[in-house]
Amino acid sequence: MNFEELYKTDLHCHLDGSNLLSTCVEIINQQKIVTKHWSLSDIEQNKITAEFLGHIVHARTDMKDLLEYLRAFDVTCACMQTEENLVRVVTETIQQASIQNILHLELRYAPSLHTQNNLSQHQVQQIVSQAAHNASVKYNVSVTIIICTMKLFSPSSPENTETFSLYKNTYPVPIAYDQAGPKLFQFSDFKEQIEQINVPITLHAGESSGAEAVRQAVNVGALRIGHGVRSQESVEVMRLIKEQKTVLEMCPTSNTQTNVFGRISKTLEDYPLKKYLDFGIRVTVNTDNPMISQCTVASELKLLTEKLHLEPVDILLILNFGFDAAFNPNAEEKEKLRLKAFKWNAKCLSKYDLQIEDKFHDRMKLFK
Ligand SMILES: [Zn+2]
Repeated sequence: MNFEELYKTDLHCHLDGSNLLSTCVEIINQQKIVTKHWSLSDIEQNKITAEFLGHIVHARTDMKDLLEYLRAFDVTCACMQTEENLVRVVTETIQQASIQNILHLELRYAPSLHTQNNLSQHQVQQIVSQAAHNASVKYNVSVTIIICTMKLFSPSSPENTETFSLYKNTYPVPIAYDQAGPKLFQFSDFKEQIEQINVPITLHAGESSGAEAVRQAVNVGALRIGHGVRSQESVEVMRLIKEQKTVLEMCPTSNTQTNVFGRISKTLEDYPLKKYLDFGIRVTVNTDNPMISQCTVASELKLLTEKLHLEPVDILLILNFGFDAAFNPNAEEKEKLRLKAFKWNAKCLSKYDLQIEDKFHDRMKLFK
Protein backbone atom coordinates (compact mmCIF):
# COMPACT_ATOMS: atom_id res chain seq x y z
CA MET A 1 0.00 0.00 0.00
CA ASN A 2 1.14 3.54 -0.69
CA PHE A 3 0.76 5.25 2.69
CA GLU A 4 2.32 8.52 1.56
CA GLU A 5 -0.56 9.37 -0.79
CA LEU A 6 -3.27 8.88 1.86
CA TYR A 7 -4.78 11.91 3.64
CA LYS A 8 -3.84 11.61 7.29
CA THR A 9 -4.04 13.27 10.70
CA ASP A 10 -1.41 13.44 13.44
CA LEU A 11 -3.28 13.99 16.70
CA HIS A 12 -0.39 13.24 19.03
CA CYS A 13 2.70 15.17 18.06
CA HIS A 14 4.92 17.03 20.53
CA LEU A 15 6.21 20.29 19.09
CA ASP A 16 9.49 19.86 20.98
CA GLY A 17 9.93 16.38 19.49
CA SER A 18 9.40 17.61 15.93
CA ASN A 19 12.27 20.06 15.31
CA LEU A 20 14.30 19.21 12.21
CA LEU A 21 17.72 17.95 13.29
CA SER A 22 19.37 20.24 10.69
CA THR A 23 17.57 23.22 12.26
CA CYS A 24 18.85 22.28 15.73
CA VAL A 25 22.42 22.06 14.39
CA GLU A 26 22.09 25.47 12.73
CA ILE A 27 20.48 27.19 15.73
CA ILE A 28 23.01 25.76 18.23
CA ASN A 29 26.04 26.78 16.15
CA GLN A 30 24.81 30.20 15.03
CA GLN A 31 23.39 31.22 18.41
CA LYS A 32 26.07 29.42 20.45
CA ILE A 33 23.57 27.56 22.61
CA VAL A 34 25.15 25.44 25.33
CA THR A 35 23.43 22.57 27.21
CA LYS A 36 24.80 20.09 29.73
CA HIS A 37 25.65 17.78 26.81
CA TRP A 38 28.34 20.05 25.26
CA SER A 39 30.40 23.18 26.01
CA LEU A 40 31.05 26.47 24.24
CA SER A 41 34.46 25.19 23.19
CA ASP A 42 32.77 22.18 21.53
CA ILE A 43 30.76 24.67 19.46
CA GLU A 44 33.88 26.68 18.61
CA GLN A 45 35.63 23.51 17.50
CA ASN A 46 32.67 22.70 15.19
CA LYS A 47 31.87 19.51 17.08
CA ILE A 48 28.08 20.03 17.07
CA THR A 49 27.22 18.20 13.86
CA ALA A 50 24.06 16.30 12.88
CA GLU A 51 25.84 13.06 13.76
CA PHE A 52 26.84 14.37 17.22
CA LEU A 53 23.32 15.60 17.99
CA GLY A 54 21.70 12.49 16.53
CA HIS A 55 23.43 10.39 19.20
CA ILE A 56 21.79 12.51 21.89
CA VAL A 57 18.31 13.04 20.46
CA HIS A 58 17.43 10.00 18.35
CA ALA A 59 15.61 7.37 20.38
CA ARG A 60 16.59 3.72 20.17
CA THR A 61 14.81 0.54 21.23
CA ASP A 62 17.74 -0.44 23.48
CA MET A 63 17.57 2.66 25.68
CA LYS A 64 17.85 1.76 29.32
CA ASP A 65 15.23 4.12 30.74
CA LEU A 66 12.79 6.94 30.16
CA LEU A 67 15.39 9.49 31.30
CA GLU A 68 17.56 8.52 28.37
CA TYR A 69 14.62 9.16 26.02
CA LEU A 70 13.77 12.45 27.72
CA ARG A 71 17.29 13.92 27.42
CA ALA A 72 16.50 14.72 23.79
CA PHE A 73 14.15 17.42 25.06
CA ASP A 74 17.08 19.25 26.73
CA VAL A 75 18.36 19.82 23.21
CA THR A 76 15.12 20.57 21.39
CA CYS A 77 13.79 22.90 24.10
CA ALA A 78 17.11 24.81 24.21
CA CYS A 79 16.48 25.60 20.53
CA MET A 80 12.99 26.99 21.27
CA GLN A 81 13.48 29.85 23.74
CA THR A 82 13.14 32.93 21.48
CA GLU A 83 10.38 34.22 19.23
CA GLU A 84 12.51 33.66 16.12
CA ASN A 85 13.29 30.05 17.01
CA LEU A 86 9.75 29.20 18.11
CA VAL A 87 8.30 30.59 14.87
CA ARG A 88 10.82 28.62 12.84
CA VAL A 89 10.14 25.29 14.58
CA VAL A 90 6.34 25.70 14.38
CA THR A 91 6.50 26.70 10.71
CA GLU A 92 8.84 23.89 9.68
CA THR A 93 6.79 21.29 11.56
CA ILE A 94 3.61 22.33 9.77
CA GLN A 95 5.46 22.42 6.43
CA GLN A 96 6.64 18.83 7.05
CA ALA A 97 3.05 17.78 7.80
CA SER A 98 1.92 19.29 4.52
CA ILE A 99 4.63 17.39 2.58
CA GLN A 100 3.43 14.16 4.21
CA ASN A 101 -0.25 14.69 3.29
CA ILE A 102 -1.29 15.34 6.88
CA LEU A 103 -4.39 17.49 6.49
CA HIS A 104 -4.99 18.00 10.22
CA LEU A 105 -2.19 18.34 12.74
CA GLU A 106 -2.46 18.73 16.51
CA LEU A 107 0.74 20.09 18.02
CA ARG A 108 1.15 19.84 21.76
CA TYR A 109 3.66 21.61 23.94
CA ALA A 110 4.14 22.99 27.46
CA PRO A 111 4.59 26.79 27.40
CA SER A 112 6.31 26.55 30.80
CA LEU A 113 9.31 24.90 29.11
CA HIS A 114 9.96 27.87 26.80
CA THR A 115 10.46 30.74 29.25
CA GLN A 116 14.22 30.47 29.86
CA ASN A 117 14.87 33.62 27.82
CA ASN A 118 12.40 35.78 29.75
CA LEU A 119 9.37 35.20 27.51
CA SER A 120 6.23 34.80 29.62
CA GLN A 121 4.04 31.75 28.97
CA HIS A 122 1.42 34.14 27.60
CA GLN A 123 3.95 35.53 25.09
CA VAL A 124 5.07 32.00 24.17
CA GLN A 125 1.49 30.92 23.47
CA GLN A 126 0.80 34.07 21.41
CA ILE A 127 3.93 33.42 19.32
CA VAL A 128 3.21 29.71 18.83
CA SER A 129 -0.47 30.14 17.96
CA GLN A 130 0.17 33.02 15.53
CA ALA A 131 2.98 31.10 13.82
CA ALA A 132 0.72 28.03 13.65
CA HIS A 133 -2.06 30.09 12.10
CA ASN A 134 0.25 31.62 9.50
CA ALA A 135 1.78 28.26 8.54
CA SER A 136 -1.65 26.62 8.55
CA VAL A 137 -2.82 29.08 5.89
CA LYS A 138 0.43 28.95 3.92
CA TYR A 139 0.68 25.14 3.79
CA ASN A 140 -3.05 24.38 3.85
CA VAL A 141 -2.93 22.23 6.99
CA SER A 142 -5.65 22.46 9.64
CA VAL A 143 -3.88 22.97 13.01
CA THR A 144 -4.92 22.74 16.66
CA ILE A 145 -2.55 23.59 19.51
CA ILE A 146 -2.77 21.39 22.61
CA ILE A 147 -1.42 23.37 25.56
CA CYS A 148 0.08 21.08 28.21
CA THR A 149 0.47 21.57 31.93
CA MET A 150 3.33 19.56 33.41
CA LYS A 151 2.75 16.63 35.77
CA LEU A 152 6.17 17.50 37.16
CA PHE A 153 4.77 20.62 38.84
CA SER A 154 1.99 20.63 41.42
CA PRO A 155 -1.46 21.79 40.22
CA SER A 156 -1.10 25.10 42.08
CA SER A 157 2.57 25.72 41.24
CA PRO A 158 3.36 29.10 39.62
CA GLU A 159 4.22 27.26 36.36
CA ASN A 160 0.91 25.39 36.10
CA THR A 161 -1.15 28.32 37.43
CA GLU A 162 0.17 30.47 34.59
CA THR A 163 -0.49 27.69 32.06
CA PHE A 164 -4.07 27.19 33.33
CA SER A 165 -4.73 30.93 32.83
CA LEU A 166 -3.92 30.54 29.10
CA TYR A 167 -7.09 28.51 28.44
CA LYS A 168 -9.25 31.55 29.21
CA ASN A 169 -7.99 33.36 26.13
CA THR A 170 -8.78 32.93 22.46
CA TYR A 171 -6.14 32.44 19.78
CA PRO A 172 -6.01 32.37 15.98
CA VAL A 173 -6.06 28.53 16.10
CA PRO A 174 -8.21 26.18 18.24
CA ILE A 175 -6.70 24.95 21.52
CA ALA A 176 -7.09 21.88 23.73
CA TYR A 177 -5.71 20.55 27.03
CA ASP A 178 -3.21 17.82 27.97
CA GLN A 179 -0.76 16.98 30.76
CA ALA A 180 2.79 16.04 29.83
CA GLY A 181 6.03 15.00 31.44
CA PRO A 182 7.15 12.44 33.98
CA LYS A 183 4.34 11.71 36.38
CA LEU A 184 4.40 12.96 39.95
CA PHE A 185 0.79 14.08 40.40
CA GLN A 186 -2.46 12.18 39.72
CA PHE A 187 -5.26 13.41 37.44
CA SER A 188 -7.48 13.70 40.51
CA ASP A 189 -5.03 16.26 41.98
CA PHE A 190 -5.84 18.48 38.99
CA LYS A 191 -9.61 17.88 39.11
CA GLU A 192 -10.52 21.37 40.31
CA GLN A 193 -8.41 23.10 37.66
CA ILE A 194 -9.48 20.74 34.87
CA GLU A 195 -13.17 21.34 35.63
CA GLN A 196 -12.72 25.04 34.95
CA ILE A 197 -11.19 24.51 31.51
CA ASN A 198 -13.57 25.04 28.65
CA VAL A 199 -11.61 23.29 25.89
CA PRO A 200 -11.47 19.63 24.76
CA ILE A 201 -9.27 17.35 26.86
CA THR A 202 -6.84 14.60 25.94
CA LEU A 203 -4.60 13.03 28.58
CA HIS A 204 -1.46 10.89 28.49
CA ALA A 205 -2.44 7.61 30.15
CA GLY A 206 -1.90 3.87 29.80
CA GLU A 207 1.70 4.32 28.64
CA SER A 208 4.08 4.43 31.61
CA SER A 209 0.93 4.19 33.76
CA GLY A 210 -1.47 1.26 33.50
CA ALA A 211 -5.15 0.78 32.65
CA GLU A 212 -6.30 2.42 35.90
CA ALA A 213 -4.84 5.74 34.72
CA VAL A 214 -6.91 5.41 31.54
CA ARG A 215 -10.06 5.03 33.65
CA GLN A 216 -9.12 8.08 35.74
CA ALA A 217 -8.43 10.12 32.61
CA VAL A 218 -11.87 9.27 31.20
CA ASN A 219 -13.43 10.09 34.58
CA VAL A 220 -11.93 13.59 34.62
CA GLY A 221 -13.32 14.26 31.14
CA ALA A 222 -10.71 13.13 28.60
CA LEU A 223 -12.29 12.62 25.18
CA ARG A 224 -9.07 11.13 23.89
CA ILE A 225 -6.22 9.24 25.56
CA GLY A 226 -2.58 9.84 24.70
CA HIS A 227 -1.28 6.30 23.96
CA GLY A 228 -3.66 4.11 26.01
CA VAL A 229 -1.61 1.15 24.85
CA ARG A 230 -1.91 -0.51 28.27
CA SER A 231 -5.73 -0.29 28.37
CA GLN A 232 -5.72 -4.01 27.55
CA GLU A 233 -4.60 -4.73 31.11
CA SER A 234 -8.29 -4.35 32.10
CA VAL A 235 -11.24 -5.60 30.03
CA GLU A 236 -13.43 -3.28 32.11
CA VAL A 237 -11.38 -0.29 30.99
CA MET A 238 -11.57 -1.50 27.38
CA ARG A 239 -15.38 -1.67 27.74
CA LEU A 240 -15.45 1.80 29.30
CA ILE A 241 -13.53 3.46 26.46
CA LYS A 242 -15.57 1.60 23.86
CA GLU A 243 -18.84 2.76 25.45
CA GLN A 244 -17.61 6.33 25.94
CA LYS A 245 -16.30 6.41 22.35
CA THR A 246 -12.96 7.52 23.79
CA VAL A 247 -10.31 7.76 21.09
CA LEU A 248 -6.83 6.29 21.59
CA GLU A 249 -3.91 8.24 20.17
CA MET A 250 -1.52 5.34 19.58
CA CYS A 251 2.19 5.93 18.87
CA PRO A 252 3.74 2.51 18.16
CA THR A 253 7.43 3.33 17.60
CA SER A 254 7.58 5.66 20.59
CA ASN A 255 5.93 2.98 22.75
CA THR A 256 8.62 0.47 21.88
CA GLN A 257 11.35 3.01 22.74
CA THR A 258 10.05 4.33 26.07
CA ASN A 259 8.97 0.98 27.39
CA VAL A 260 10.56 1.49 30.79
CA PHE A 261 8.63 -1.16 32.67
CA GLY A 262 8.77 -3.92 30.09
CA ARG A 263 4.99 -3.80 29.82
CA ILE A 264 4.81 -3.14 26.07
CA SER A 265 6.27 -5.52 23.50
CA LYS A 266 9.34 -4.16 21.70
CA THR A 267 8.62 -6.06 18.51
CA LEU A 268 5.10 -4.71 17.78
CA GLU A 269 3.84 -8.16 16.72
CA ASP A 270 1.50 -8.12 19.72
CA TYR A 271 0.88 -4.37 19.75
CA PRO A 272 -2.80 -4.17 20.72
CA LEU A 273 -4.02 -1.75 18.02
CA LYS A 274 -5.78 -4.40 15.91
CA LYS A 275 -7.17 -6.01 19.07
CA TYR A 276 -8.69 -2.66 20.11
CA LEU A 277 -10.07 -2.01 16.64
CA ASP A 278 -11.75 -5.43 16.54
CA PHE A 279 -13.15 -4.82 20.04
CA GLY A 280 -14.83 -1.60 18.87
CA ILE A 281 -12.38 0.95 20.29
CA ARG A 282 -11.60 3.98 18.14
CA VAL A 283 -7.87 4.02 17.47
CA THR A 284 -5.67 6.48 15.61
CA VAL A 285 -2.00 6.27 14.59
CA ASN A 286 0.36 9.12 15.47
CA THR A 287 4.05 9.99 15.73
CA ASP A 288 4.47 11.31 19.31
CA ASN A 289 7.92 12.77 18.46
CA PRO A 290 8.69 12.45 14.74
CA MET A 291 12.30 13.70 14.98
CA ILE A 292 13.24 11.92 18.20
CA SER A 293 11.55 8.64 17.23
CA GLN A 294 12.43 9.10 13.53
CA CYS A 295 9.02 8.21 12.19
CA THR A 296 6.11 9.65 10.19
CA VAL A 297 2.43 8.71 10.29
CA ALA A 298 2.96 6.93 6.94
CA SER A 299 5.92 4.93 8.27
CA GLU A 300 3.93 3.99 11.39
CA LEU A 301 0.97 2.80 9.30
CA LYS A 302 3.32 0.77 7.09
CA LEU A 303 5.02 -0.80 10.10
CA LEU A 304 1.70 -1.74 11.75
CA THR A 305 0.34 -3.13 8.49
CA GLU A 306 3.37 -5.43 8.23
CA LYS A 307 3.42 -6.49 11.87
CA LEU A 308 -0.33 -6.81 12.47
CA HIS A 309 -1.43 -7.74 8.92
CA LEU A 310 -3.83 -4.80 8.72
CA GLU A 311 -6.23 -4.80 5.79
CA PRO A 312 -7.05 -1.76 3.64
CA VAL A 313 -10.37 -1.36 5.48
CA ASP A 314 -8.51 -1.22 8.83
CA ILE A 315 -6.42 1.65 7.45
CA LEU A 316 -9.57 3.44 6.23
CA LEU A 317 -11.17 3.08 9.68
CA ILE A 318 -8.05 4.35 11.48
CA LEU A 319 -7.68 7.39 9.20
CA ASN A 320 -11.40 8.19 9.49
CA PHE A 321 -11.25 8.09 13.30
CA GLY A 322 -8.38 10.59 13.13
CA PHE A 323 -10.45 13.16 11.24
CA ASP A 324 -13.54 12.38 13.31
CA ALA A 325 -11.66 12.90 16.61
CA ALA A 326 -9.98 16.16 15.60
CA PHE A 327 -10.30 18.94 18.17
CA ASN A 328 -11.81 21.56 15.89
CA PRO A 329 -14.72 23.57 17.32
CA ASN A 330 -15.87 24.41 13.78
CA ALA A 331 -17.99 21.29 13.23
CA GLU A 332 -18.82 22.14 9.63
CA GLU A 333 -15.17 22.65 8.67
CA LYS A 334 -14.20 19.45 10.48
CA GLU A 335 -16.84 17.35 8.72
CA LYS A 336 -15.86 18.80 5.35
CA LEU A 337 -12.25 17.75 5.92
CA ARG A 338 -13.29 14.28 7.14
CA LEU A 339 -15.39 13.72 4.04
CA LYS A 340 -12.68 14.99 1.69
CA ALA A 341 -10.17 12.61 3.30
CA PHE A 342 -12.63 9.70 3.35
CA LYS A 343 -13.42 10.01 -0.37
CA TRP A 344 -9.75 10.26 -1.34
CA ASN A 345 -8.59 7.47 0.97
CA ALA A 346 -11.41 5.13 -0.10
CA LYS A 347 -10.46 5.77 -3.73
CA CYS A 348 -6.73 5.13 -3.08
CA LEU A 349 -7.38 2.00 -1.01
CA SER A 350 -9.96 0.57 -3.43
CA LYS A 351 -6.93 -0.35 -5.59
CA TYR A 352 -6.29 -3.09 -3.01
CA ASP A 353 -9.88 -3.92 -2.09
CA LEU A 354 -12.79 -3.22 -4.43
CA GLN A 355 -15.40 -3.73 -1.66
CA ILE A 356 -13.68 -1.36 0.75
CA GLU A 357 -16.58 1.10 1.19
CA ASP A 358 -19.13 -1.66 1.89
CA LYS A 359 -16.72 -3.26 4.35
CA PHE A 360 -16.11 0.12 6.02
CA HIS A 361 -19.83 0.76 6.65
CA ASP A 362 -20.26 -2.78 7.89
CA ARG A 363 -17.33 -2.48 10.33
CA MET A 364 -18.53 0.94 11.58
CA LYS A 365 -21.61 -0.78 13.11
CA LEU A 366 -19.29 -2.01 15.87
CA PHE A 367 -18.49 1.57 16.90
CA LYS A 368 -22.07 2.94 17.16
ZN1 LIG B 1 3.15 12.14 24.13
